[in-house]
Amino acid sequence: MPKLVIDTSKITDVPAFLKLCPFGALYEKDGKVDVSAACKMCRICVKKGPAGAATFVEDEKKPEINKSEWNGVVVYVDHEDGKIHPVTLELLGKARELADKIGHKVYSVFIGSGIKNAAEELLHYGCDKVFVYDDPALKHYIPELYTTVFESYIKSNKPCAILVGATTTGRELAPRIAARFKTGLTADCTILDMAENTDLIQIRPAFGGNIMAQIVCPNNRPQLATVRYKVMNAPERSAEAKGEIVPCSVDGIDLSTTTKILDIKPKEKVKTIESADVIVAVGRGFKTKEDIAMAKELADLIGAELACTRPLVEGGWMDAKHQIGLSGRTVRPKLIICLGISGAVQFAAGMNNSDVIFAVNSDENAPIFKVANYGVVGDVYDIVPKLIANIKEGK
Ligand SMILES: Cc1cc2nc3c(=O)[nH]c(=O)nc-3n(C[C@H](O)[C@H](O)[C@H](O)COP(=O)(O)OP(=O)(O)OC[C@H]3O[C@@H](n4cnc5c(N)ncnc54)[C@H](O)[C@@H]3O)c2cc1C
Ligand code: SF4
Repeated sequence: MPKLVIDTSKITDVPAFLKLCPFGALYEKDGKVDVSAACKMCRICVKKGPAGAATFVEDEKKPEINKSEWNGVVVYVDHEDGKIHPVTLELLGKARELADKIGHKVYSVFIGSGIKNAAEELLHYGCDKVFVYDDPALKHYIPELYTTVFESYIKSNKPCAILVGATTTGRELAPRIAARFKTGLTADCTILDMAENTDLIQIRPAFGGNIMAQIVCPNNRPQLATVRYKVMNAPERSAEAKGEIVPCSVDGIDLSTTTKILDIKPKEKVKTIESADVIVAVGRGFKTKEDIAMAKELADLIGAELACTRPLVEGGWMDAKHQIGLSGRTVRPKLIICLGISGAVQFAAGMNNSDVIFAVNSDENAPIFKVANYGVVGDVYDIVPKLIANIKEGK
């Protein structure tokens, strides 16, 4: 990376020099001027400061990497006490598709304790090899330990691309791995493809969902991407287990940690909108918080989870864990009923893979009708009570 080098001996007036930076990135400590991470490399201090006080040092050209040395598409097995998170299976399906394009194999890395039986299950989902790091020291997910083990795997196996579920664990682990290898990571990809030259094409919404950014790491390996649960399709479970379990020794891996687990208090299990088969989603078509009770009644009648758009969360009407969309959750229910929702791209990005989308909106030109399979142009205050009455009458 290019960097800014400060020579304090060339600065005659330190306070005036610090003021040059519009981002407050220059600071003085123990008589020495330095630059913080807030630096935007705008070079104002270089141009306006005394000669030689700040120097911009260009990056040395990185030697070309040999891409053919990096082989295999790997999925990190996200799990809790050996119970595999379904995002892992979705990623195995995508990994197979990507690997087939370049003639690579699909691998997974499973880190934990007492996980050998659970590892077998992955062989029903098209994984060629499951690398299992099974050790009592790895019983609990401790970020630094899991990163170190994954680092060791990468050093020994040189995978081309690594897919990680964008779960709480994955969002923490993937950047740590990327940092250790000084490589790129694209978070929350919605589309993944593979170029002939093994560059992983990582596509995700950017600039508030207004464009789809296509990101590649042309001269870095491994390539890392996270993908949210329910974005990709899980493959069918094959009756026959194919592939191989590869037990990996942790000997020689430094499993020391400063983290001590004193107690584990499991969080109360709540139904999440991600796992719901049927969702009733509400938007700003509802005029008051109290009116949402009408949608809740409909949801309860049909066994649906209640969800919402972002403005309702911002207004404090509903909790953030009920928000669908780019900055909320991605859902893929069998049926979603959208009530009084305009269907902005940022909302639609979180639900447009649902099996059946039914929308009620008073504006016939509302964008929600572009993604809906069925729509009613009408007032939610009129339609929803009628729906409830019809359902109660068993119609
Ligand atoms: C970076 C970024 C991230 C974002 N992330 C998200 C996100 O994750 N999730 C999200 O939802 N939004 C997100 N947004 C906001 C998003 O752009 C929209 O503003 C939001 O989705 C609009 O919510 P809405 O449809 O409830 O409200 P509106 O856009 O105001 O739509 C209300 C709709 O209700 C209809 N209506 C009004 N009265 C009635 C009635 N009585 N009966 C029937 N229909 C009626 C109107 O015709 C209108 O179409 C994000 C924005 C940005 C910039
Ligand atoms: S390069 Fe720009 S942002 Fe960085 S320290 Fe100098 S003035 Fe500040």
